[in-house]
Amino acid sequence: MSLLVVDRLNKRFGGVSAAKDVSFSLAAGELLAVIGPNGAGKSTTFGMVGGQLAPDSGTVALAGEAITGLPPREIWRKGVGRTFQVAQTFVSMTVAENVQMALVSRNGRTRNLVADTRALHREEALALLDGVGMRADADRPVSELAYGDVKRVELAIALAAEPKLLLMDEPTAGMAPKERAGLMGLAARLARERGIGVLFTEHDMDAVFAHADRILVLVRGEVIAAGTPEEVRGDERVKRVYLGE
Ligand code: ADP
Ligand code: MG
Repeated sequence: MSLLVVDRLNKRFGGVSAAKDVSFSLAAGELLAVIGPNGAGKSTTFGMVGGQLAPDSGTVALAGEAITGLPPREIWRKGVGRTFQVAQTFVSMTVAENVQMALVSRNGRTRNLVADTRALHREEALALLDGVGMRADADRPVSELAYGDVKRVELAIALAAEPKLLLMDEPTAGMAPKERAGLMGLAARLARERGIGVLFTEHDMDAVFAHADRILVLVRGEVIAAGTPEEVRGDERVKRVYLGE
C-alpha cells in the first residue's frame, strides 16, 4: 500500500490555478522530488498535504486514511512532519531544548511545556543531534548558529516526531552550495534508515538527481512528467519546458 496518495488536488488563488488535478503517490522509504520553475505550485502542493492549505477539490490519504483538509496539528499527529523554506526554530532556546520540546510535544499533553522541555528527553535529543552532526552544539542557543547548522537542527526536530512522511520544502534554501549537498544527503540517509517517505522540493538539480527515487515535474500547477530520474531527464517536454534545453 502507498504511504501517501494524492488524488486530483486543485487549488486556485483568484485567477491563478496553483494546482490543477495534481496526483501522485509515495511509498514508505521512498524519496520523491517535486521540481518546477518558481510559481509552479510546489509549495501549494506541500501546503495541501501538510494541512496549511485546504484544497478546492481532491483528496490526500496517508496510509489509507483520508487526511484532506484536516488542521496541520492533526496531520502532524498522524505522522506528517515538515521543514519549511525558512527554518523555524526557537532561537533563544538551546539546540538541545529545541529538540527536547519536539520530543515532549510528540508525547502529547504536558502540564508545563517549558519545564518539561528542560527536564525530559535530554539523551534522546542528544542522540538525534548526533545523527545530524550537531551534538557538540547541543547547549548553544540556536541564535548563535550558522544558517546551515540551523537547518540540521530543524531536521533533528522533524525526526523527533517520528514521522511516517517528511515534507521538505526547499530544505537547502539559503545555504552555501557546499553545505547543500551535505544536508540533502543526510536527510536522504536518515529517512531511508528509518523507512520514512520523503517529499521534497529542491532547486539544485544535482541534489535532485542524486537523491530522488522518483521525480514529479510541475509547470503552472500541472504535472507534466513523473518518473525515475532517468525517465524525467529524457522526457522531451521536461527538457523543453523546464530544463531549457
Ligand atoms: P512554487 O512553490 O512552485 O514556487 P507556489 O505554490 O508558491 O509555487 O505558487 C503557485 C502559484 O500560486 C503562484 O502563481 C503563486 O503566485 C500563487 N500563490 C501561492 N500562494 C498564494 C497565496 N497565498 N495567495 C495568492 N496566490 C498565491
Ligand atoms: Mg515554493
